[in-house]
Amino acid sequence: MDSINKTDNFVFQTYQRQGKALVRGEGVYLWDEDGKKYIDFLAGIAVVSLGHCHPKITEAISRQASTLVHVSNLFYTMPQADLASKLCEKSFADRVFFANSGAEANEAAIKLSRRYFQKKGEKDRFKIITMEQSFHGRTMATLTATGQDKIKDGFYPLLKGFSHVPFNDIDALKNQIDETVCAIMLEPVQGEGGIIPADPDYLFAVRQLCNDKKILLIFDEIQCGMGRCGTLFAHELYGITPDIMTIAKALGNGFPIGAMLATQNAATGFDYGSHATTFGGTPLATAAALEVMNIISQNIFLDKVHQIGEYFKGELLKLKEKHTKVVEVRGKGLLLGLEIDKDAGFFVGKLFEKGFIINGIQDKILRFAPPLIIEKQEIDKLILALDSLL
Ligand SMILES: *Cc1c(COP(=O)(O)O)cnc(C)c1O
Repeated sequence: MDSINKTDNFVFQTYQRQGKALVRGEGVYLWDEDGKKYIDFLAGIAVVSLGHCHPKITEAISRQASTLVHVSNLFYTMPQADLASKLCEKSFADRVFFANSGAEANEAAIKLSRRYFQKKGEKDRFKIITMEQSFHGRTMATLTATGQDKIKDGFYPLLKGFSHVPFNDIDALKNQIDETVCAIMLEPVQGEGGIIPADPDYLFAVRQLCNDKKILLIFDEIQCGMGRCGTLFAHELYGITPDIMTIAKALGNGFPIGAMLATQNAATGFDYGSHATTFGGTPLATAAALEVMNIISQNIFLDKVHQIGEYFKGELLKLKEKHTKVVEVRGKGLLLGLEIDKDAGFFVGKLFEKGFIINGIQDKILRFAPPLIIEKQEIDKLILALDSLL
């Protein structure tokens, strides 16, 4: 049996996959079992931001794999210490909790916000407001937080204490605020929901509201963070900071790792024993992520992402002028969406045949989240292919 038959027979059928097994990757390129080459405009869903098998990450993983892989969080290790201090140095945060995935980082953020108030005796302050169309993960708490019905289908009853409001609507948010709210949680640029950036005025007003009402502000930067939007973290584009931030996807360039970052004040919600995980922040995972941070956090790297993102967006906007099927071009940096008045699945399939990997979200949106090292020449090839398909 080949890999497709084996997968279809033995793996839970929870994913619809493209009909070819991928066998190798290098930089922005992938190869399938027939030796056909693809340009990757998805990067494993905004994960492989430095490109496939980046030599420095491969080197960091192999070096650490032959030195020390895992000892548990009952002991100090250098890679974890280095990564935590680097993350704090490069962000608003004072403390980091390490997890293995995005959903787990968000679980930690949800637990921290509740405990922050319960520790102070405010037991009724447990409600978390999130946005419609948001995506925060697939665990019970994070799917409850997610503002999309299809993610919740079949999993009722959900957790208590969550509500959703329309994104970019400050009045709707203000109407939901009362003394039971402990946190507001949002993605500065919504990913799965359709590549929808927050309006600058809105995000500023949300920060103001949280200050006034002493509510914690959580930014889920799992998809839009780590250089994806042309700044190390997406909220830097808006000139405001959260109290808590979660990151994951690109943090390990494919090695699984997530993290929850918090200010000194918000971090007081956790004490010894409040939260834990066996695998979070192993020497192996943090050695990989430290190398990723060393590269992505450089201004020269981020400036390039910004420039190439502007170029890409400009080319997509030209397609919009030319083709009536294109409804809108959205996004920041190299997290871009092209909304069309047709089934996105058709385009995804056709582009795959032509050697381009992208994906479709919310039925009618093509998502582009290529490795951040993508160059103009590869973008030009995709634009040409899109142009002829449209
Ligand atoms: C992918 C994603 C998550 C969930 O991350 P997992 O690693 O799949 O658990 C949460 N929030 C956002 C914004 C994401 O894009």
